[in-house]
Amino acid sequence: MTRLELADRYGRVATDLRVSLTDRCNLRCAYCMPAEGLPWLPSATVLTDDEVCRLIAIAVGSLGVREVRFTGGEPLLRPGLEEIVRATAALGVEVSLTTNGIGLAQRAVGLRDAGLHRVNVSLDTIRPDRFVEIARRDRHAAVISGLAAARDAGLHPVKVNTVLLRDINHDEAADLLAFCLDHGYELRFIEQMPLDPMHSWDRERMVTATEILDQLRQRWTLTAEERVGGAPAQTWLIDGGPHKVGVIASVTEPFCASCNRTRLTADGQVRNCLFAMTESDLRNPMRAGASDDDLARRWQRAMSIKAAGHGVDQVDFKQPARAMSAIGG
Ligand code: SAM
Repeated sequence: MTRLELADRYGRVATDLRVSLTDRCNLRCAYCMPAEGLPWLPSATVLTDDEVCRLIAIAVGSLGVREVRFTGGEPLLRPGLEEIVRATAALGVEVSLTTNGIGLAQRAVGLRDAGLHRVNVSLDTIRPDRFVEIARRDRHAAVISGLAAARDAGLHPVKVNTVLLRDINHDEAADLLAFCLDHGYELRFIEQMPLDPMHSWDRERMVTATEILDQLRQRWTLTAEERVGGAPAQTWLIDGGPHKVGVIASVTEPFCASCNRTRLTADGQVRNCLFAMTESDLRNPMRAGASDDDLARRWQRAMSIKAAGHGVDQVDFKQPARAMSAIGG
């Protein structure tokens, strides 16, 4: 196979692939989806397990991808997940999963045995009543047991992803961190981004990284760690370490200049940025008989035109048509 790389005009090279395995989800988090859900992708357009595995093999074998993260929608809803993980791990890359944790209690060991290395579990509150308010489903206990199962299966480090929302859970930063420290999880706060289909994001009401850090500093001393590579999170040692907390300030301190990500949606579209306004189709060429080399070159072209930055904080910013749940967060 030809060796290419996913370079763009600004000198960035993508080596971290996010693969969305479905746009469906079993939660209805108010900042992500309307209560009734969204019009799901027609199943004929969703890549089969073999198609997903073929594209991942091309990304790793021909395009220099070194890490693969599965996401969605909710990736645990994908029946073939374990087999896709197994095929990906066999390529010798780092394999991780971003999940809401529902069902992880039953599948953590199987996923580890299939070759999964790490997991990020989304949890926005430690209060069951608030969980129902945010996620519109009474599944807090399932997420908590999913987290524990991931830790017990050795999917280390188990990271928790949290989005704080004004007047809903904006006051919970320190309690969430205390919970994660008690249970051996590594917490990452993510600033809310304008990717919701309801278009309800409001820059003025967004809970910022600064505000989150101010809350945490009331309980702990935080020491900034040096940032490595394309890591989106600024990490902080808690009371001198070794435990840490991360904050992903995607809006107030974008990390576009060091972004090393490429994304594949469940229906086979390459996205060169979460906020890209265009996508590059690999599904139809693949189904029409394109060779691996042809698909690799299409992927390379898609990445070569990546914009310098997402521009979320600029006045002329426009939100992409595809919502976060269908892109793969
Ligand atoms: N269902 C999986 C999960 O819950 O982790 C994977 C998909 S979900 C879209 C991935 C992450 O994106 C979650 O942590 C979620 O909180 C986050 N997310 C969703 N909408 C967001 C937004 N507008 N801004 C920032 N993060 C968002």
